[in-house]
Amino acid sequence: MKIVLLGPPGVGKGTLAGFLKEKYNLAHISTGDMLREEIKKGSDLGVELKKIITSGALVSDELVTKLVQQKIEHDLDLSKGFMFDGFPRTVTQAVDLDTILKKVNAPLDFVLNLDADFDVLLKRMTGRRVCRKCGALYHVISKPPLKADVCDACGGEIYQRTDDNEKTIQARMEVYQKSTAPIIDYYAKQNKIKKVDANMEAAEVRLAVAVFFK
Ligand code: ADP
Repeated sequence: MKIVLLGPPGVGKGTLAGFLKEKYNLAHISTGDMLREEIKKGSDLGVELKKIITSGALVSDELVTKLVQQKIEHDLDLSKGFMFDGFPRTVTQAVDLDTILKKVNAPLDFVLNLDADFDVLLKRMTGRRVCRKCGALYHVISKPPLKADVCDACGGEIYQRTDDNEKTIQARMEVYQKSTAPIIDYYAKQNKIKKVDANMEAAEVRLAVAVFFK
């Protein structure tokens, strides 16, 4: 399966990706994670990226698409399935992704379009915590770690992303509506959209999604 996880920030793409990776052995390509890796390196590019991400704006199409293209052409086992999470985020990126995948003869099977109400997204994002070391996801209320600030999986330090504050979340939601939501139409024209109600608990979302893998 070759798929895209689409949906507003906080809708649960990362959580679902963790499950799909285990269950269906899909490679997980998260541009957000790739950009945060670059920030961690402390490079000049990383410093620039941190400013952009913390403001809630999008990183340039050119840069993100180049990262993804490198990954697809040099770093991905195309005989296995894969899923994109957080990419594409603009119609330009969607068109470029189609072009890149056509070149390697691996077109997308479908696009999971997850959606949830704004108050649900807000609660998920303000409570979200992440392991600095392995990227495991937590939530202060619905999924706290066993020991405060320590990752259950790897013992790493748990932190809050600099863009998970109310002000930046508001900006990210506006960017989503303006730049990313038009992608739904783009893929609908290709008949590739599978809609998922992501207001539900993670376990129910998994059940709803499993239908598309039969
Ligand atoms: P979320 O889905 O919760 O918003 P991500 O980790 O996918 O979080 O993205 C965090 C930030 O990284 C975005 O707000 C944006 O600044 C940047 N980013 C990630 N993916 C892309 C992309 N495909 N195009 C442009 N910017 C991106």
